[in-house]
Amino acid sequence: MNIELIEDNPYLLLTPGPLSTSKRVKAAMLKDWCTWDDDYNRIVQDIRARLVQLATKETSLYSSVLMQGSGSFCVEAVVGSVIPQNGKILVMANGAYGQRMAHMAKMLNIPLVLLDNGEVAPPDLNQLESMLQEDAEITHVAIVHCETTTGMLNPIEAVGRMAKKYNKTYIVDAMSSFGGIPMDITDLQIDYLISSANKCIQGVPGFGFVIAKIDELTKCAGWARSHSLDLFDQWDKMEHYNGKWRFTSPTHVVRAFYEALKELADEGGVIARFNRYKTSQRALVKGMKILGFETLLPEQLQSPIITSFLYPESEAFQFQTLYEKLKRRGFVIYPGKITNANTFRIGNIGEVQVDDMIRLVDTIQQEKFWT
Ligand SMILES: *Cc1c(COP(=O)(O)O)cnc(C)c1O
Repeated sequence: MNIELIEDNPYLLLTPGPLSTSKRVKAAMLKDWCTWDDDYNRIVQDIRARLVQLATKETSLYSSVLMQGSGSFCVEAVVGSVIPQNGKILVMANGAYGQRMAHMAKMLNIPLVLLDNGEVAPPDLNQLESMLQEDAEITHVAIVHCETTTGMLNPIEAVGRMAKKYNKTYIVDAMSSFGGIPMDITDLQIDYLISSANKCIQGVPGFGFVIAKIDELTKCAGWARSHSLDLFDQWDKMEHYNGKWRFTSPTHVVRAFYEALKELADEGGVIARFNRYKTSQRALVKGMKILGFETLLPEQLQSPIITSFLYPESEAFQFQTLYEKLKRRGFVIYPGKITNANTFRIGNIGEVQVDDMIRLVDTIQQEKFWT
């Protein structure tokens, strides 16, 4: 089909998932696919292989599993499937997504220890080490890479080294960074990396995926605390039935994701995408600072994915008014999510260019109703 015929979106989503996707990705959804047919399953297998290639050069050591649902379903599939009955998870939480992982562990009756350094501080590695020394029952360490709550980038390499020093299985929620920030999960010593279709790969929402160390995953048969979210069983079917999902798969979303993966390669891969995100994020912050906005985080903790801005001092500032005005002018931004400061967030992942950031800043300047 002629993709130019697809109508433009009324606004850009500056929200990190769902995000603005290209017409090419949207057009891929205009066919119906059979969920068990070879044509479709070949695409699934190609996607699985491409994900492993994106994640590491040691492709023979890892495998990927796709799982229906939003990103959190995948996090829950990992938490509920890879920890044995006598296991215990240490979750390093400095935001809502780390807290969500801890909440899942609690609901699943998995013994949990929480390392919570608050929302604006990086995790404390010394504290991590003493917790690992003091509590030999801990079997798994989990952390969020880009904590989308604030936009903070957590030190997953240093945490991985520490986890491995004490022989722990290492889980990373890289939901909002995988595909947008270069990483090799072999070097990072990650056993389970979790991400989803509608973040930096720039697909549409509907499923998530886990890239797992094969040696670890194969231990997990029969460990799952949920049937639908049984990570091992889902992997086992995909692996042995040539890309077959256990239950109905989101066929259109998967097809769009396949196109998004090809689009990522066409852009020049993860490094090119990372550079685009970085350039956009820097232009955004530079422009916003000129308008008088301050970022919540110092630059050295900030990811190139999403940025939290503090409300300006002015009493006349109302987020809702800014939101409505920007929406009418073609931009949707994000409210804040932290408890101790008034913030709003602007994401720059998706089909968004540096020029869009410059236009956004110009628009905010024109709408500077609160001064
Ligand atoms: C988006 C996101 C998730 C998953 O959120 P869903 O709404 O379930 O897709 C989990 N962790 C992080 C860090 C995220 O950014």
